[in-house]
Amino acid sequence: MTRSISILGATGSVGEQTLDLIGRERDKWRIEALTANCSAEKLARMALDFGAKIAVVGDEACLPELREALSGSGIEAAGGSAALIEAASRPVDVTVAAIVGCAGLGPVMAAIEQGGTIALANKEALVSAGDVMMAAVAKHGATLLPVDSEHNAIFQCLAGSKLSDVARITLTASGGPFRTWTQDQLDAATPEQAVAHPNWDMGAKISVDSATMMNKGLEYIEAHYLFPVGLDRLGIVVHPQSVIHSMVEFRDRSTLAQLGPSDMRVPIASCLAWPQRMDTPMAPLDLPSIGELSFFAPDETRFPATRLARQAIEAGGAAPASLNAANEVAVAAFLAGQIGFTRIAAMVEETMSNYTAHTPRSLEDVLATDQAARIAAHQLLELT
Ligand code: NAD
Ligand code: MG
Repeated sequence: MTRSISILGATGSVGEQTLDLIGRERDKWRIEALTANCSAEKLARMALDFGAKIAVVGDEACLPELREALSGSGIEAAGGSAALIEAASRPVDVTVAAIVGCAGLGPVMAAIEQGGTIALANKEALVSAGDVMMAAVAKHGATLLPVDSEHNAIFQCLAGSKLSDVARITLTASGGPFRTWTQDQLDAATPEQAVAHPNWDMGAKISVDSATMMNKGLEYIEAHYLFPVGLDRLGIVVHPQSVIHSMVEFRDRSTLAQLGPSDMRVPIASCLAWPQRMDTPMAPLDLPSIGELSFFAPDETRFPATRLARQAIEAGGAAPASLNAANEVAVAAFLAGQIGFTRIAAMVEETMSNYTAHTPRSLEDVLATDQAARIAAHQLLELT
């Protein structure tokens, strides 16, 4: 039996790795929609290779190139944010949500409304929408499976256990490329150094987030919504080898951990096949060659992002969406050479502390909060 699938953000790191897995068992899948922001040529090639029904670019300016590349193929081409939402709302068995940033929120919510399975990589969407997204999942009977390796690990360790039996959930963090750097070194860190992650090969934005530890901050908030055990039962440990992807301790003091290679195809495969299993091309875990696993407490002086995330969870309301929006603006400014590395967390903190708003109750509320925080963050940029 074939299953239908749409991949939002198909041309990115998670999108490509999803297509790599699907390409290995092509007869089992029928591709509905593939989307990208622009990258029209790459998207068209993927749509042709996999026989997608529709290819969509978020940026309408890239539509003519997409149309040209797909002409005569019978594959629909579309562009713009309304087209993205229309593609995401087509009923499919599985939607892989792999757009980066809050830009993916509208499409994810459209997919949730179809009530299928959503394999969620787009953590910024959940961080911004929080309860609004979780309520939509419940209302429409959708199944939300976390692709993020830590949350996928927690999901696997929980295996249906009651959250009331959980004593503690521990997210592991690699610590990123600057784990051992001094404050002075961090002040001078460049975009090239920040995107060179020691363990994972990822898109530029999440690579910078890993370097600032804001990735772990966003994941902290993501875990808070996915596994609501309360902040006192949610922790972070730095584990530089990235072999244990997270763990769950139960009230009898039994701790379950999920281990695997640091390759996103493992958690993606777990979502694609769930509740079954599928093959992946990775080599088996070779513990003797890994040798040792080590663990450290996070240093929130050099890396304040996880502290800010905790504050955002405690403040609730619009704080997580504001944190995310400010971070997106700051990371883009850092990558463009406009601000220094340590200014990223500072900008997030200033935006969060200067900005208050009511609790978002709908998608429109969340998008308005996101916009307001972006404007505030851009104003901070103008002052630098
Ligand atoms: P990426 O930058 O490699 O790819 C992003 C994709 O989104 C591309 O297809 C791009 O065209 C599309 N996109 C970007 N901006 C868009 C916009 N405004 N409108 C529509 N489409 C847009 O990113 P990635 O590393 O694949 O990460 C995707 C998501 O998955 C992020 O939320 C990230 O945090 C999460 N994630 C990634 C990894 C990883 O290993 N890469 C691991 C865990 C979680
Ligand atoms: Mg992760």
